[in-house]
Amino acid sequence: MQDAIVYFDIAAVVVMFVAMGSVLIRKVTHGPAYYAYFSLVALITLTCLASMFSQLYDNAVTSVLIDDSMRSSVVRDLMRMAYFVLRIFNPLVYLVFIAVVSNTTHRLHRSTTARLALWAPIAFTLLVVLSNPLHGGVFAYSDDVMQRGGLMWVIYLCALHYSLWGIGHLVRWRKVLGRDKFLSLMALYPLNFVAVLIQTFMPRMRVEMFFTAVAVMLVSVLVMRPEEEIDDLTGTLSIKSFEEMCRRAFIIERPLCLVFIDIANKDRLRELAGPGMFRNIVRTVSVQVSNYLRRGDELYYLRNGLFCISAHNLDASESLSIALRSAKEGREAAKALPEQSMMVQMRTCVVRVPQDVHDDQTLQTFTRRIGHVMPEPCVTTYEELLRHKGFLLQMNLANIVQRGIAKRAFEVYYQPIWDVRKERFCSAEALVRLHDPEFGYVSPGLFIPEAEQSGAIVDVGRIVLQKICQFLGKVDFSATKLSYVELNLSVEQCMQPDLVPQLLGLLKENHVESNRINLEITETSESYSQTVIDNNMKAFAQEGITLSLDDYGTGYSSLARMLSLPFDIIKLDKSLVDGMGDPAVHTVVADTVATMQRIGKKVLVEGVETEEQSRELVGMGVDYLQGYLYARPLCEKDFIAFLMERNANASPCTCSE
Ligand code: C2E
Ligand code: CA
Ligand code: CA
Repeated sequence: MQDAIVYFDIAAVVVMFVAMGSVLIRKVTHGPAYYAYFSLVALITLTCLASMFSQLYDNAVTSVLIDDSMRSSVVRDLMRMAYFVLRIFNPLVYLVFIAVVSNTTHRLHRSTTARLALWAPIAFTLLVVLSNPLHGGVFAYSDDVMQRGGLMWVIYLCALHYSLWGIGHLVRWRKVLGRDKFLSLMALYPLNFVAVLIQTFMPRMRVEMFFTAVAVMLVSVLVMRPEEEIDDLTGTLSIKSFEEMCRRAFIIERPLCLVFIDIANKDRLRELAGPGMFRNIVRTVSVQVSNYLRRGDELYYLRNGLFCISAHNLDASESLSIALRSAKEGREAAKALPEQSMMVQMRTCVVRVPQDVHDDQTLQTFTRRIGHVMPEPCVTTYEELLRHKGFLLQMNLANIVQRGIAKRAFEVYYQPIWDVRKERFCSAEALVRLHDPEFGYVSPGLFIPEAEQSGAIVDVGRIVLQKICQFLGKVDFSATKLSYVELNLSVEQCMQPDLVPQLLGLLKENHVESNRINLEITETSESYSQTVIDNNMKAFAQEGITLSLDDYGTGYSSLARMLSLPFDIIKLDKSLVDGMGDPAVHTVVADTVATMQRIGKKVLVEGVETEEQSRELVGMGVDYLQGYLYARPLCEKDFIAFLMERNANASPCTCSE
């Protein structure tokens, strides 16, 4: 049994080393949570060691290791005292650790009473333990066997005080922590309680430190998650931990001063220097920015050249000076570039919570849209940005979309499409338009991505489809010589299982034949369920509705997918037309047109603005042309008038042509 006492402590020490090693190996050595964690682990490891050595010293077996000349009651008492001193700090440090992990340290000393409750019990207990040689009330030795004294209750009360506080704090801020972290941090308390029970009934089973070590190990695995918190590229804190930190700040009402630092010319740099060199630039900027972090400041890499410093207790002028300095760092970072002439341009913006931003949603919207809302290289503040209408528009897109849905304010314009062979406008693309009562005309290029992200696109899409079908129900196709109209569908709409019956129902209701419409869809990233989309598209094709592949030639298009769906028309993106001055792009466009036509597809080119572009494209054999050269998107009335005039001399057209 004597041996068992030592074995439990040795096991505890081993577990603590593993816990510490696991975090070190995972290369997590910065951030307040990690300093707090290391302090906790160091304290518990020392406590385990003190417990182990004082046991070894006491045990009869130690006579093998320590000869009589080395035996001294002073050493023995000091070792025991060290154990008690370290032990009484355990629950306090654990409480502080919980507060650090949940970003609620300021709550621990928010009032004089709180500060007193935090420091007085430990100070008193420390006094009792340190004065033990005078009164022997905590422990004393009789016949080389340690006896716990009557003043032990002070230690127990002290532990109970901090433990109950810790439990209360955990329960109070459980939402901040999330379920997993809450449970793993809580585990220490019942484990300690069980250990105390075991020790009370089986005094020689000294399992307390071992159980504590196991609980800390649990924390190291489940709470200290570097893979979630550290950014791979820069080694700074990640976007996930930034979002988490912001979410918590709003729950616990903690003021924040955020300095956003963005590489303003990132697109150009990536284009000129290539993705590999761009990563180097990001790393260099991160090193330079971290140079002037102060204690307690945290640096996050959010994405795509955007950093954020969360600086505590900064006033506006201090944070602006950080912003100014970081704007200058561009010059230093430029040294990483192969061509010195390339300059890394920075733009920075200071945001204060809660003065500037009152809720997490707005902060996340700002973070997401920062590239669109911040002017070119500059040092600015959120307050300053609020004076620009464009910024307010960007920040209010979600509201604008909701207002539009509530008032069914979406209108549809039609951009005529020129049929090269038949020499008339045979179709048109339906494009949504929105006039907001506060912001006026809002481009679909702005609100469609926002609606797609929030899911509101399903409602927007329903309104738009309804309006298009109602319009088509009234169009005299033979008089206008119009064959069909192209409708844009977002991926989110294509993911709706009831899309096919919904659209067919609308067509029927308005007496529109299914061959009067064509659906434009864009390539999507792998994250969407291709099966649902494919099934919807195949169902449309079976109903006689033709499909166009939109924006071909931009980042998303893939040949394999293009071939797997029954597309009739391939729409080449405007960017390809714009690039045709470059002979290489010219060749790619010409070859793409020829290849598509060889496999039975029709080719439409978007964004044709000049006669020269039109001539070249006609020369390549393109089937349809769309762009400002031919017509801008027109409202229903103007569109009909346009067709009546421009198609007047063309031969009548039917869909079956
Ligand atoms: P898109 O589908 O690529 O539409 C073509 C865009 O190019 C339209 O912009 C059109 O006005 C513009 N455009 C046409 N010809 C020219 C030209 O010669 N030069 C230039 N610079 N631009 C030209 P718009 O109307 O602002 O729409 C932007 C995007 O919003 C559309 O791109 C489409 O992705 C989306 N969108 C528009 N209407 C709808 C809709 O009803 N539903 C859905 N889901 N998305 C829509
Ligand atoms: Ca389109
Ligand atoms: Ca397009």
